[in-house]
Amino acid sequence: MTMHITTTINGIQNKDRSYIYIPKEDHHYFPEPNEKFKIIDSKNNKEYIVHLENSYRIPGLKSFFKSHTEIGKGTKILIEAIEQFKSYNIYVDHIPDELDQTIRQDLEVIESENFTEGGMSLRLVNYFERNPELRTAAIRIHGTTCLACGFNFESKYGEHGKDFIEAHHINPVSRNLEEKIVDPNKDLVVVCSNCHRMIHRNRMKILSLEDLQELIKKIEN
Ligand SMILES: [Zn+2]
Ligand SMILES: [Zn+2]
Repeated sequence: MTMHITTTINGIQNKDRSYIYIPKEDHHYFPEPNEKFKIIDSKNNKEYIVHLENSYRIPGLKSFFKSHTEIGKGTKILIEAIEQFKSYNIYVDHIPDELDQTIRQDLEVIESENFTEGGMSLRLVNYFERNPELRTAAIRIHGTTCLACGFNFESKYGEHGKDFIEAHHINPVSRNLEEKIVDPNKDLVVVCSNCHRMIHRNRMKILSLEDLQELIKKIEN
């Protein structure tokens, strides 16, 4: 079970824009004061090496505030421990709702498949496509109907298929991920599992969404 720590930005933090307070009662989720740990802003693909001060402040987040200009007084910040005492994900104003939970569960299933089946699906589902925030953002933007063939899981399977669709990153997988910023609007599309497999079927020639749409059109005519 992942642990979420919620903190609210107050007036002083908002003005200074370089640190956040951790509620005293959540202190024990972090290493001892002054020990370094990592905060990951996956939305912007940025990492910050920070520490917790005795006053329960995490300083060193200037660029985080800079890249999230929407942060104001009262903004909720969510911190998720991903590796205890070592690294944490940070989200702005983002309390996981039902869609987030569903997507995380789907991804957990996909991840566990990767372990049992070996290479195949690991190649299919690349880093960005497995990132729950990006996947959620892609679904919020593009919906849950396959952009290649029009398939909709809920229409076919009812309640069981609700909110399910796969995210496909339209640029070939890059292994050098650290600096790259993914725009879920432009870089990700949503496709059904069949179309997704067809897109990635030939590793040497990953189809574009348009390629696949063309193929489908040709057959239908
Ligand atoms: Zn499809
Ligand atoms: Zn893909």
